[in-house]
Amino acid sequence: MTYLFAIETSCDDTSMSILNIKNKRVISYITFNQNKIHRNHGGIIPELAVNEHIHKITEVFMSLLNKSNILIKQIKFIAATKSPGLQGSLRIGLNFSLGLGKLLDIPVIGVNHLQSHLLSNLYEDGFPHNFIGLVISGGHTSLYLRKYRHIFLCIGSTKDDAIGESFDKVGRLLGLKYPSGSTIDRLSNDGNHNRFIFPVPQLDKPYFNFSFSGLKSFSYNLINHLFRQDIVVKQKTLNDMCSSLRTSFIIITLEKAFVACKIYGLQSIVVGGGVASNRALKLFYFTLKKYYNMKICIPKIFGCTDNAAMVGKLGIQTLIS
Ligand code: ADP
Ligand code: MG
Repeated sequence: MTYLFAIETSCDDTSMSILNIKNKRVISYITFNQNKIHRNHGGIIPELAVNEHIHKITEVFMSLLNKSNILIKQIKFIAATKSPGLQGSLRIGLNFSLGLGKLLDIPVIGVNHLQSHLLSNLYEDGFPHNFIGLVISGGHTSLYLRKYRHIFLCIGSTKDDAIGESFDKVGRLLGLKYPSGSTIDRLSNDGNHNRFIFPVPQLDKPYFNFSFSGLKSFSYNLINHLFRQDIVVKQKTLNDMCSSLRTSFIIITLEKAFVACKIYGLQSIVVGGGVASNRALKLFYFTLKKYYNMKICIPKIFGCTDNAAMVGKLGIQTLIS
């Protein structure tokens, strides 16, 4: 039996996974998450992230080998996240991989973090071959066209803040704990999304790029206005505000993916990244399916966040091509 070892350290997660190269199954995975450390700072501190990766990397690797019940010499291939991400964090994972590769005398390939997010659901029933990929995470908002196994073409990205970062910044203003995307999502469930009308960014050239700075400024002004009148402290207003914000953020991203599908003649959208766990996406899922016969693949919660299993899947796609 031959195995692939995958590692992901692009940001604040030390994640590793073992995959069976032949049947492409994920044998095991372990993620050490640093949320607790960065929470007190209201955002990710790169130096702290690097320190934590250094402290945990060997421990996570040893636990992974134990859990997988394989011998180290059965690993025949390594896939590591190469970019994009925090330089220091990426380097820890890459250096570890290169060292291990040298020790075992096996090849190491670097994979793109955003593209790997889009293959989180690969090998599951009905996963499409060709699709428009929408990566919505804390650091990125990008649109891809998947051409072939590991070949992706980036057709759009954010011109300013990423969608997750925008959720977090607005959340901070509302006094919510970092990262606040999931809290805003939860509060939205009891809110009226038509109460506040957010502006729609006009980005015609090139059409597939995103911008969230206008929406963020609009949120700041709205919240200040509501705070001044002591209205935002009312739970109902907070819920309505979150719901209006959530709908507008999600519609803007999905709409671009939808138009890209029409232009490239595709019927499937694959979503990835931490924001893909947003519940509003599921609502649009049914609308797109019912009225346009289009499919949206959204990973389960574990598959949305950074994990090495998705890195391994992209690694195997590269290996078999
Ligand atoms: P990155 O790898 O770029 O740091 P992740 O893929 O780890 O980002 O996703 C983290 C981001 O996802 C955070 O900005 C967080 O607020 C956001 N997020 C998580 N869950 C939700 C949700 N349900 N709705 C909206 N945003 C969310
Ligand atoms: Mg990510």
